[in-house]
Amino acid sequence: PGSEVTQLIEQYDRASAARSPSEANQEAIFGQAVCSIFQNSRAGAPPVYVFYPLREGPEQAPFGFAGMALDQSFIEREFLPGLISESPGGANRGPDSELTLAVLDENNKRVYSNNDARNSYEVKTAFAPVFTKWQLAAGYGGTTIEALASDNFRKSLILTFSVLLVLMLGIGLILRATAREMRLAETKSAFVANVSHELKTPLALIRLFAETLELGRVESEQKAEEDYRIISNESRRLTQLIDNLLDFSKTEAGRKEYHFVEASLAQIVEDVLKTYRYQLVSSGFELSLEVERGLPPASVDRDALSQALLNLLDNAVKYSGEEKKIAVRVQQRGPDIALEVADRGIGIPRSEHRKIFEKFYRVGTGLVHNTKGSGLGLAVVKHIVEAHGGHVLVESRPGSGSRFTLLIPALKPLIECQKADTRIRE
Ligand code: ADP
Repeated sequence: PGSEVTQLIEQYDRASAARSPSEANQEAIFGQAVCSIFQNSRAGAPPVYVFYPLREGPEQAPFGFAGMALDQSFIEREFLPGLISESPGGANRGPDSELTLAVLDENNKRVYSNNDARNSYEVKTAFAPVFTKWQLAAGYGGTTIEALASDNFRKSLILTFSVLLVLMLGIGLILRATAREMRLAETKSAFVANVSHELKTPLALIRLFAETLELGRVESEQKAEEDYRIISNESRRLTQLIDNLLDFSKTEAGRKEYHFVEASLAQIVEDVLKTYRYQLVSSGFELSLEVERGLPPASVDRDALSQALLNLLDNAVKYSGEEKKIAVRVQQRGPDIALEVADRGIGIPRSEHRKIFEKFYRVGTGLVHNTKGSGLGLAVVKHIVEAHGGHVLVESRPGSGSRFTLLIPALKPLIECQKADTRIRE
């Protein structure tokens, strides 16, 4: 036999010996040569053989074989592309495709791939039984399973944290709303208790002194005068409290009306102090009033502004300790007229400066003060001043007194207005 036949027989023997037990029942035997014995379209490409052992009976040993060599260029150019593009995921092409399928030869070179950019694979398996020396490889386009897994992990981590954040935010909001509701409920019930007390005390005093006077049990003219003064003071306090309550409810319902007129702020202050001074002085207070000369008028609601001033004076009295001094000052400050009420009382901590203007709010009772009140006084003051286009300032430190300043915009003098008017016309 010629050398080609010898080589074929060798090839057949090698292929039958290399058969795995699982392939023992197959009729055909496949073999892939390392080097070519035939002239082939792909120079030097080893052919693939299919051998059919020839036997006389099913259990007989083969006495020879018939076979054929497969054309590799056909396999590479037509058979594999067709096979892979029909397989699931194999139809994807290009560098972005999800799944890359490739066939590698015995030197790990690509025989065929559906993705040109790919060069590392996740799994490889023998392309048996036909191409025993080749491998079928698969991987994910442009990425590895590890990268894909860590990417997925990162995405789900971000999602989990976002959900957690939203959840925590929700819980935070609910807790805040609940705390606010509780605080409001507490302040409301404290308000009811305080207002009842505020209403009852002056009424009880008025009744007591009126009865004493009625029964003529007063020892001296001076004592009678004192009793009348108490009755007048207490009824004034009652009126002020009721005014505040009515004002507050009107403001809350949006029904509060103001009647603005051009007036002198200094005059309003002097009028209020005229009626209030006697009571202050007889309760042991030293009251000073300082008014700057030639102040411009302002557009004000007299009653509302008097009420705001009375609330400030009332607080100055209520929250003064041993040092009973109240200083009222009216002066120009920039475009505004500043109305100051200063006392030397218990003062207010910095952290409370904003809250004291909230409705029902009272600085913590007990250690700070035991004075009763509705917690509406400053809320009403703030509303009145803001309705005038102004604002309220507070300067205060615990132990060194407080100064409340109402800033009300002044009206421009007529001459100045005319000047401005002509300038605009020019
Ligand atoms: P009330 O005096 O009825 O409690 P306000 O709204 O007038 O209500 O005042 C709110 C809180 O501000 C008071 O409870 C008090 O603690 C504090 N406060 C107001 N004015 C003064 C002041 N002149 N000195 C010290 N504390 C004050």
